[in-house]
Amino acid sequence: MGITTNIEDDKKELAKKVQRLARLGVRLLDSSKGGVVVMNEAESSLVSEVKEKLDKDPLLLELKTNVHKQKVDELQERIVEEAHRCRYTVTLRMLERPDCRKLEVAGAAKGLYKCSGSSTSTSFRSSYTHRQYLWLPALLNAGKSVNMVGEKVVIVFDFDRTLIDDDSDRWVVENMGLTHLFNQLRPTLPWNALMDRMMEELHSQGKTVEQIAECLKQVPLHPRTISAIQSAHDLGCDLKVVSDANQFYIKTILKHHGLYRCFSEVITNPTSVDGEGRLRIFPYHDMTSFHGCRLCPPNLCKGLVIEQIQASMSEKRKSRFIYLGDGRGDYCPTLKLDKGDHVMPRKGFPLWDLLLSDLNLLKADSHEWRNGEELESILLQLIEKIYKE
Ligand SMILES: [Mg+2]
Ligand SMILES: [Zn+2]
Repeated sequence: MGITTNIEDDKKELAKKVQRLARLGVRLLDSSKGGVVVMNEAESSLVSEVKEKLDKDPLLLELKTNVHKQKVDELQERIVEEAHRCRYTVTLRMLERPDCRKLEVAGAAKGLYKCSGSSTSTSFRSSYTHRQYLWLPALLNAGKSVNMVGEKVVIVFDFDRTLIDDDSDRWVVENMGLTHLFNQLRPTLPWNALMDRMMEELHSQGKTVEQIAECLKQVPLHPRTISAIQSAHDLGCDLKVVSDANQFYIKTILKHHGLYRCFSEVITNPTSVDGEGRLRIFPYHDMTSFHGCRLCPPNLCKGLVIEQIQASMSEKRKSRFIYLGDGRGDYCPTLKLDKGDHVMPRKGFPLWDLLLSDLNLLKADSHEWRNGEELESILLQLIEKIYKE
């Protein structure tokens, strides 16, 4: 419905009225019995149909049964109530969508719930984990709009010994036969230049970039770290990697595990493949001008990176940070975090020691973790806590 110029004069008034009704959300449908059916979208019959058929979706029924088994502040009753009042439906996946007025309700019941909703729409995906399911009321309360929630939490992952259990540089050195040369050159070169030199060595031995990629694909990732990343992403958090490894390593590993799409940015030492097929690794910061931070290596001050991310955030929608790391290079950025932010240092690793040495320097709250299980449970608890605040 739109412009009325092509409409005969005597029907223009009627056309305008129809347009007005359309703007109010009323739909006119042709009826097979002749005449017109008037349907108010706000009280769509599709919604009643969805409500009716919710009980026929085996996955949803199973989910509801399991939710009933849990006893958390009577949340389960409220959730099920919510599910049955849902004229109104939100899938958590929608949190990514900036325009929540165009929500697509994609139910697991193969198109059953597929419809457009209003800005207050919610739908229940049977593929939710119980934890996600339990969060729905929290997300919907207190008039918080869905897209506000989506932009609220920024999660920054260090890569080596945080996102992956191992160190990607050492992994390549050890698994591609470079240990001897590495140990020889270690005292003579800064880390970043040393890794570039290692790539030169591989190239001179005839090893290709594809072979390096194959080696990187063998790096194990803890399954709970994978699910933590996926859940945080599904919940609308903004995930970033800030690492002193390099673009090629990180991208290869994240892509191999299907996680690359979960990150809005990977901030690390850049790489390129030169004309001869040699992988080159460059410093993140220009080495000719010192960045001025004495806590960090010359090629990358993660604290500066965090300050840049903070500065890029909108004033109105102040973001909360969760920073996960293990190494010395993660100390500087954690000191840049504010009150209300969270740092997750890996227990027993250098960052954890440094933080313990003077907790007064830290404005953010600290939560230690040891492995993928703890990483996942603490991270998801923190996101939940922030969403509820
Ligand atoms: Mg690390
Ligand atoms: Zn620094």
